Amino acid sequence: MSSSVPAIGPTIGKVWLVGAGPGDPDLLTLRAARLVMNASLIVHDGLVDPAILALARPTAKLVSVAKRRSKHTMAQDEINALLVREALSGRDVVRLKGGDPFIFGRGGEEAEACRAAGVPVEVVPGISAAIGAAAAAQMPLTHRRSASIVSFVAGQCKGLSDQDWSGLAGKGRTLVIYMGLATAEAIAEKLIADGLAPDAPVAVVENATRPQMRVLRGPLAGLPAIVARHKVKSPAIIVIGEVTAQPHSEQLRALALEAIS
Ligand code: SAH
Repeated sequence: MSSSVPAIGPTIGKVWLVGAGPGDPDLLTLRAARLVMNASLIVHDGLVDPAILALARPTAKLVSVAKRRSKHTMAQDEINALLVREALSGRDVVRLKGGDPFIFGRGGEEAEACRAAGVPVEVVPGISAAIGAAAAAQMPLTHRRSASIVSFVAGQCKGLSDQDWSGLAGKGRTLVIYMGLATAEAIAEKLIADGLAPDAPVAVVENATRPQMRVLRGPLAGLPAIVARHKVKSPAIIVIGEVTAQPHSEQLRALALEAIS
């Protein structure tokens, strides 16, 4: 009612960890879109599509903390510290992250850092790359005929060869690998060594949901060749399983570039 409530101590801002989805601005949640359009400070990573940043007010301050595999522009603890510092100085922060903040996005670490500093934090889910890619390429991740289990794994983790992926791919299963381009060869070898057939069907979806999306298909053994021959660039996910098999209609065929090697 009253605007004259006496302030008790400094006002603390809030951090929203917001999923920006895989690229197409239409795939933002309404909550994410509202937050982006009203934000005065947006801290975003490199995966966030420029079309989404374009929704921000002209007066909004945009801070990029883009992380690329080879050149880290800001270490994770610096990002955490930035969010906390801004909030403690009274600013609301929209922390905009590609896909969903809690799928390979280090959103968990950022939420922990905020909570540890007494900064209120709220998480807004986003459409993760696997979900966006599946829809855009019309490739269901589950299908009554072919898959009832889906796994999401990170292909770039330290100690890839020590990770136990056995049973994650194969009959009745779909395996989605994020950040797997640079390690595509090791991934194919690892899965084949675990017993997966070298001709198991694979799809690579590059720039899912964006105008320049490509879907490349082939056998598991040909995965490194697909990535190399088509010069696949990040962001891309690798999907392994029957659900990736070539769609039948001509219209869908147009979506897919053959890459049998
Ligand atoms: N939090 C994000 C994932 C961050 S990890 C999410 O939920 O989607 C970054 C990886 O996500 C990329 O290396 C790539 O494997 C995948 N990715 C993100 N956006 C993508 C897109 N538009 N198309 C294909 N893969 C994408």
